[in-house]
Amino acid sequence: MHILVTNDDGVYEPGLLALTQAARQVADKVTILAPDHNWSAAGHVKTLHRPLRINQTELEDGTPAWATDGAPSDCVALAQLGFIPEKIDLVVSGINPNANIGHDVTYSGTVTAAMEAAIWGIPGVAVSLNRPEEFSGAADYQPAAEAARRIIAWLLTQPDLPKDAILNVNVPYGPLSKMKGFRMTRQGMRIYRDELIRREDPRGKPYFWIGGQAPIGVEEPGTDYGALSTGFVSVTPIQLDLTHRAMKTWMEERGFQEKVLIT
Ligand code: MN
Repeated sequence: MHILVTNDDGVYEPGLLALTQAARQVADKVTILAPDHNWSAAGHVKTLHRPLRINQTELEDGTPAWATDGAPSDCVALAQLGFIPEKIDLVVSGINPNANIGHDVTYSGTVTAAMEAAIWGIPGVAVSLNRPEEFSGAADYQPAAEAARRIIAWLLTQPDLPKDAILNVNVPYGPLSKMKGFRMTRQGMRIYRDELIRREDPRGKPYFWIGGQAPIGVEEPGTDYGALSTGFVSVTPIQLDLTHRAMKTWMEERGFQEKVLIT
């Protein structure tokens, strides 16, 4: 089994090192191709209008790695387009220092790397740590890495794992012994608390900055946020098909095709 590890925070971030070490315990081969700078909240990207560079580097523990100026989703595409010649069986992305739940998923570079994997027919796992908002200093990624290792190990033993499987994993912050277990969840509701900060540059021209407090969420049972807030590791199977099926039915019921398109 060959695992490609990437992230959205940058190749030298400790979350990627922890995830690499976890992946190495369950795979024969682990390749790292990750961004050379932070792409958090940069979303699902395909870089088409500038060249992409890839440089050889190594992680803190000496593990060889590739660093690119492309986005997390570019990393997966670069690998699949031939930069990494060996077949990749699974893409794992993370460990992001903050949770990626609910509406975060299309913003998240961590999650969109896993989404890119699904486009190429490779299962993808995004792993994020629900580090407390007030937290500062070095985070302990070991419990989340162990949770990720267990999930990856389980996935790799499944002979009929769907090729477009994407698991969005969010791990509570704290020791493994304090976690209540794994919960299969659905996406919950994020509550963003963004504020527009308007300032002036030294030449008197206004500029704008999206600031405000960290997002919170609705603590609904069965959801990612609900699981995290009650101490469970949240595992949400997600897909790229964003079709709003209830809305489709709603439009059909109101005769959308006959009434809008034909008249
Ligand atoms: Mn990030």
